[in-house]
Amino acid sequence: MDPISDSIIDRRSLLAAAGLLPLAGAPAFAAPPAAVGQPEEQISNFKLPEPPGKRVRFAVVGLGTFAVGQMIPGFVASKRAQMTAFVSGNPQKAQDLGARYGVGAFYNYDNFDTIANDPNIDCVYIALPVALHAEFAIRAFKAGKHVLTEKPMASTVEDCEAMIAAAKAANRQLGVAYRVHFEPNNVDAAKRIKAGEIGVVRHYSGDAGFSANPNYPPHKWRLTKALAGGGSMYDIGIYALNAALMSIDEAPVSVTAAYSTPAGDPRFTEVEGGVDWRLKFPSGISAQGSSSYCYTYVTRQRVFGSLGSISLDPASDYNQVSVMMQHADLEPITLHAGSPTVQFSAQIDAFSEAAMANQPHLTPGEMGLRDIRLIQAIYKSADAGGQIVTL
Ligand code: NDP
Repeated sequence: MDPISDSIIDRRSLLAAAGLLPLAGAPAFAAPPAAVGQPEEQISNFKLPEPPGKRVRFAVVGLGTFAVGQMIPGFVASKRAQMTAFVSGNPQKAQDLGARYGVGAFYNYDNFDTIANDPNIDCVYIALPVALHAEFAIRAFKAGKHVLTEKPMASTVEDCEAMIAAAKAANRQLGVAYRVHFEPNNVDAAKRIKAGEIGVVRHYSGDAGFSANPNYPPHKWRLTKALAGGGSMYDIGIYALNAALMSIDEAPVSVTAAYSTPAGDPRFTEVEGGVDWRLKFPSGISAQGSSSYCYTYVTRQRVFGSLGSISLDPASDYNQVSVMMQHADLEPITLHAGSPTVQFSAQIDAFSEAAMANQPHLTPGEMGLRDIRLIQAIYKSADAGGQIVTL
């Protein structure tokens, strides 16, 4: 036997003895994914759809690309929620969508506060440009509604804090729509990492980006600081950052960063076209990532442990998430924990349950605030030429 295959066999038996690999002849890791649900957990997770009169009622605010393309279908597929109102600056679009989805109450951005008098709205889901999240969340809390707002939570730390304070004052729940926390493959990977299946986490690397088109309306506001709050890091880099903190069980202590915006690119007069970042943690481990509006569509993450690694590529796509686990130099194993398409309805159902119980959502305002604070620290370091910013 040559030394290479010998060492593989040694590692294989070591990992198997530690319960981290199947023994010879045992079924592979991939099927079924043990961390996703033991039978009793699967049974307790099995919930019948609520009938219409018992569902949590939502107003959808902003009928743009993401709301219409992903979240409204998510409401339709949900078991706990129903849409009862649309809030839009475009009455015709709202009416057309209302006819399609059986929604009969319509508001605009001026008369939005009158939702206070609408007993058929329990919650508000906000899918507006980032800088408008805080205003509409605070108005919704004043109207006595719970709020699920899109990511990133808001433009500034101060806005995030004001949203959290308004939720507390109204005794209502504030959730940030970090959908991958409800995406089966991301959830399964996080469970495996926490269960030690790749050993002790030593490093994380994540990249997230796409090429911004200044002529495409949903990208236009993303390039305007007054509406977007920040650039690629706010919009898509936040996925890789948030996932780093999903994988590493520590709070970071410092950050360094460098912009990667192409020199002279006319798209980026107000927000960054790209930024590379690195977080340090108290145990000494690090996480690094990049975000960009200049490279091709990428959402990939890799968590490196002392025994193996887990890679997600794509990691945060709407329809496709691909996960591989590899131990030492053994063949990688493909993991399948479910269809990513359920992430929208799963998120809506989880927030509906949190609102019904008036208990914090899994991804609450405090998480959104944490991430905006970190992104601001990333910008501070990049503005200062990569200086260490202590958190
Ligand atoms: P769009 O530009 O497609 O939609 C935004 C909508 O907001 C518009 O259609 C419009 O709705 C309303 N709006 C109100 N005021 C303005 C304004 N001044 N400028 C532009 N639009 C305005 O953007 P997206 O749907 O891509 O993004 C909306 C939100 O969703 C953002 O917060 C974004 O970060 C988030 N998002 C989240 C994703 C995720 O995966 N979780 C993915 C994509 C986006 P109307 O015509 O009805 O008034």
